[in-house]
Amino acid sequence: MLIFKRIKDLEDYIKKAKKQGLSIGFVPTMGALHPGHIALIDTCKIHCKLTVCSIFVNPTQFNDKSDFEKYPVTISNDIKLLSHAGCDVLFLPSVMEIYPNGLEQKKPAYQTGRRFNFGLIANILEGSFRPGHFDGMAQVVARLLKIVKPHQLFMGQKDYQQQLIVGLLIKKIKLNTRLVMCPTVREKDGLAMSSRNTRLDATSRKLAVQISKTLKYAKAQLKNTKAEIGVIQQKSLKRLAGFEGIETEYFEIRNAKTLEVPKRRSEKLIALTAVKIGGVRLIDNMALN
Ligand code: AMP
Repeated sequence: MLIFKRIKDLEDYIKKAKKQGLSIGFVPTMGALHPGHIALIDTCKIHCKLTVCSIFVNPTQFNDKSDFEKYPVTISNDIKLLSHAGCDVLFLPSVMEIYPNGLEQKKPAYQTGRRFNFGLIANILEGSFRPGHFDGMAQVVARLLKIVKPHQLFMGQKDYQQQLIVGLLIKKIKLNTRLVMCPTVREKDGLAMSSRNTRLDATSRKLAVQISKTLKYAKAQLKNTKAEIGVIQQKSLKRLAGFEGIETEYFEIRNAKTLEVPKRRSEKLIALTAVKIGGVRLIDNMALN
């Protein structure tokens, strides 16, 4: 596996690969890799001739400074996992490389100061609990996409709202990139794999299974009862509230395409949730029908 730290070197390499007619697949990550990330690499390898992964813990998408500082960094293990998975190229830029003018700069060099406006979809759910998060995410993903210009981009359903917004971003920056959403990889007990799971102590880890259990509960309620969507949502919230140690930020049933509040059970529905357990913020979601 080739490792590039400089944008210019990666761009040159990708240009050459494209000239040779290779299809380029891209998997952006923040590292601390786990089987959920590796599943994206595996899928990418099936669809594309050249698999490019990036690891960059993007400071501008963390609204909570301590969350950023505590974000796990396991680079040497990540490199081992990626090589073993058959990843071709790893892009490992420094913060300086991505933000040469500093983080506070109003006009990031790469974006000529453009802030994206995604409308409501970026201001609800994660957007309302993590102000600025999608702004920071979109800036760095736009930057990475403009460098790699992949034919296909692979992202996880785990971050459902994020991949919807990236779909809009691709249109906004007019790239010819196909976005492929890959299913959430879970632990045996159902907990969605996440780099943050390593920060859970034993008690919190046990409790965390209730996140996916509650999503499954909502799904079963929709299937097996005639209850209205709002009632199922309330019952799911109540279920989560019953566990001491789980602090729910939101549990919402939304239209799967727009994330708007659904009017009918016949719409394509998704339940999305964010909770804090033992000081660790975890998100998950599940398609309900
Ligand atoms: P992150 O490193 O958390 O920014 O995630 C990088 C990519 O991996 C994103 O597209 C995530 O949605 C995806 N991802 C993270 N966890 C999982 C998982 N458990 N299953 C599938 N994809 C995941």
